[in-house]
Amino acid sequence: MIQCSCHNGPMPLEPRLREILGEVRDAGGRVVALTGAGISAESGIPTFRGRDGFWVVGSRNYMPQEMATHAMFLMEPEEVWRWYLHRFGVVRHAAPNAGHEALVRLERALGERFTLVTQNIDGLHRRAGASDERTHCIHGDAAWVRCAHDCGVGLLPHPAHLAARDGRAPLSPAEREELTCPRCRGWLRPHVLWFDECYDEENYRFDSTLRAAREADLLLVVGTSGATNLPVRVGQLCFTGGAALVDVNPEENPFSELAERSRRGFFARGSATARLPEIVEALVGERALS
Ligand code: NAD
Repeated sequence: MIQCSCHNGPMPLEPRLREILGEVRDAGGRVVALTGAGISAESGIPTFRGRDGFWVVGSRNYMPQEMATHAMFLMEPEEVWRWYLHRFGVVRHAAPNAGHEALVRLERALGERFTLVTQNIDGLHRRAGASDERTHCIHGDAAWVRCAHDCGVGLLPHPAHLAARDGRAPLSPAEREELTCPRCRGWLRPHVLWFDECYDEENYRFDSTLRAAREADLLLVVGTSGATNLPVRVGQLCFTGGAALVDVNPEENPFSELAERSRRGFFARGSATARLPEIVEALVGERALS
């Protein structure tokens, strides 16, 4: 389990934060929640910032940014699959936390005024109850695989029991067969966006995400370091469009800087489970309405 050094119990809202959230609530505004690996850290899934992402091939250590690439998959498909199966095994044992659950409460209260944009592939938002319709998995979803050659077979369910294996063991012939496209017999690949690939609408809801950002009245950022392209664009669109901007993170990051520069911004320092339930309560709760 990843431990966060910050205060972990529920934290009362600062008056300025309560005021910003109250304005959004009273205006019936649209909310975009943008989540990253940090929201799942308290569920025991490592972020990419620690050392957990390392993978050894031969005598070399590879970073996630090297493993999660199309170039690496072309060179070493089996190694890349073993790395993913190891990571998916960690995800399988994790459960959604109070941060994921708070966002489900927000979605149910706001309906079509809510969009969740997540960089996480771990499926914890869905397992907490988030709808597929309003959740944009902009970096893909570990629940699915697709043909690495784009032969047109579409999305196929990830063979779940493969995540139960020891990711470090070599693939058996039966496992290789399960990772073979039933249509063209090439490799299947995880349904995830690799670092050397581009966003698109079909797989990653790129246009829908930009549209939601343009229409947002509040951007609620949770647990992301802002190291990838589309989340940064979402932040900038919301900032220039005058949306309120709240960043939940135990550490300063590019979104907290943006929030602090924004007229209606607030850096809610703290962990997702400590901060989100109170923030959501202020946006939708009975206490907030009185
Ligand atoms: P990141 O690893 O770059 O940054 C994580 C952020 O979360 C940091 O800013 C950190 O301070 C913050 N954080 C740590 N603990 C937190 C907590 N308890 N509550 C709130 N915030 C916390 O993650 P990223 O910005 O999402 O980018 C990394 C890329 O790797 C993304 O593409 C992401 O999809 C992928 N990734 C996904 C998972 C997952 O699916 N769970 C895990 C690791 C990496």
